[in-house]
Amino acid sequence: MSSAADRLTERLPDAGIDVLLVTNLVNVRYLTGYTGSNGIALVGAATRTFITDFRYVEQAANEVDPTFDRRRSAQRLTEGLEEALPEGELRLGFEAAHMSVSEHAQLRELLPSRIELVATSGLVEELRAVKQPDEVAAIRAAAALADEAFAQLVAGGLTGHTERELALTLEYEMRRRGAEHPSFDPIVAAGAHGALPHARPRDEAVPAGELVVIDWGAQVDGYCSDCTRTLATGAIGGAAKEIYQLVLDAQLAALDEVKPGAVGRDVDSVPRAAITAGGHGEHFGHGLGHGVGLEVHEAPRLAQPSEAVLAPGNVVTVEPGIYIPGHYGVRIEDLVVVTGDGCDILTSIPKDLTVVD
Ligand code: ZN
Ligand code: ZN
Repeated sequence: MSSAADRLTERLPDAGIDVLLVTNLVNVRYLTGYTGSNGIALVGAATRTFITDFRYVEQAANEVDPTFDRRRSAQRLTEGLEEALPEGELRLGFEAAHMSVSEHAQLRELLPSRIELVATSGLVEELRAVKQPDEVAAIRAAAALADEAFAQLVAGGLTGHTERELALTLEYEMRRRGAEHPSFDPIVAAGAHGALPHARPRDEAVPAGELVVIDWGAQVDGYCSDCTRTLATGAIGGAAKEIYQLVLDAQLAALDEVKPGAVGRDVDSVPRAAITAGGHGEHFGHGLGHGVGLEVHEAPRLAQPSEAVLAPGNVVTVEPGIYIPGHYGVRIEDLVVVTGDGCDILTSIPKDLTVVD
């Protein structure tokens, strides 16, 4: 199996560069295995170099893929750059989305004129969007761990606990099972608060007879999971039940659309049409889903402007929602991996409306 750096090297001629300077730390991790907070990588046909400063030399020795030469530099890593680059004229790509204007100016000043700086975008991110089997295994493990933490949370009941307590319990249960972190701060939002898609847990007790949106994920070996369930704490009204069913039907219809060759925008359109037909188009204000990997939001997007074409190995969320301001919200989110002919759901928690204490 080719390494990530090999796959990147194949793409460099099309990008018009000889060597890519990788400064985004997530991309550095993807290519080299390094998990510290100061490191850069150079990747080209004959160049595999990792540069860090004194503080991370030992960590780099343990983590960095041995096909990379390791170099130590001053804390401002680009100072060690020129001597690490091949001789002669060189087109050096940089990650335009991850370099400030002033960093770029400094870099230009440091390097001799034989080196041309070329802006690139998304070269490593596009590779990261297609997961290798070991990456899918890590995401699957993160999702399974997060599911267990959720089962533990629900077993303790929701009613009477504050949203913050419940979010903290989820976080604790994930870490206790071996998660490095939650993938993001868990969302626990009851009743009208659930109508905010990115609600922050409050110091308020969850009442009986409400819908509660819970959105959480674990990070395992650097890889994230992401899942949402909406539970009921006792009997809820008929209108809320209907909205729940509308979201669930839309979510199931969307899952059917996730397959190789499907375009992100079109996958989004199917549940959006169902929710709009149900009279709630304006209450579904976000995209259907996003890629998940080393970051919890990455390529590809399943949303209206997205031209991304799904391919086997993409890992995406499918998460339609309806948010009724002042009343409640419903979101149902699964994490899936695109397979040869459809998708495989990595979340195992049931989706029929579940009533809990
Ligand atoms: Zn989520
Ligand atoms: Zn999500």
